[in-house]
Amino acid sequence: MNITPLPLDRLCIHQVSLMQCGFRQSIDCLARHGVMQTAVWKDKLDEVGTQQGARILNDAGVTSISLCAGGFLTAATKADQQKILDDNRRWLDQAAAIGAHSMVAITGGLTAGETDINTARKRALDRLGELAPSARDAGVKIALEPLHPMVCGNRSVISSLGEANDILDKLDMPDVLGIAVDTYALWWDSKLQDEIARAAGRIINLHVSDWLNDTSDTRLDRGMMGDGHIDNRAIRGWVEATGFTGPSEVEIFSEAAWWQCNADELVATIIERATRYL
Ligand code: ZN
Repeated sequence: MNITPLPLDRLCIHQVSLMQCGFRQSIDCLARHGVMQTAVWKDKLDEVGTQQGARILNDAGVTSISLCAGGFLTAATKADQQKILDDNRRWLDQAAAIGAHSMVAITGGLTAGETDINTARKRALDRLGELAPSARDAGVKIALEPLHPMVCGNRSVISSLGEANDILDKLDMPDVLGIAVDTYALWWDSKLQDEIARAAGRIINLHVSDWLNDTSDTRLDRGMMGDGHIDNRAIRGWVEATGFTGPSEVEIFSEAAWWQCNADELVATIIERATRYL
């Protein structure tokens, strides 16, 4: 497939990729480099408060397309389930307040000592169904994000795009529930191209980074595009074949490497790599 390089106006850089910065610093840094789209990281937003966060984005002219990450839907007790629904409703309102059109949601993992993964999956599906009307009220879509199977225990009890598609088939609320495809989480799946085709009309977000050959941490050692094994451009081609026209969103959690760099150099590197690998 011959896919043209991603134009710079479709490059989005997640705020979490600039963990070395405070909220305002990260947004100003992106704007300085002409990257006018981000996805705000919830913990960073809480540092400044929702209103101030919205003001900083507005002043810089940077759009937050998503708020990351909500969900954590596998709570087992009634009290914990109510608490997580309340939390998510607050996060949806925060997403709306900063102008984000989606909140990315991960299911969460199993609870302490639990060994019944299918029951945990059922709880995630039930909570997502309960949360959906609140998302509709807030005018924010929920983008369900399957994560890599190595983080099934503690981060996400769904690990493939096929499972996410199955859940959305069951819930059948296409106006408010969709999917975030993260190439880091899904690149290994031999059925990925087919499941992306099956997800046509559902894909809200496309997250990109790279899988390093000898990764030291499956969560916090994500690679820069071009340094690993993921063909991000080919996957973008599959996603665009479904009609998707959104940005490619660089999301690099990198505790020991990229989060230690100067933020301006990091953003310049991302832009340069984007022209070659996105
Ligand atoms: Zn992601």
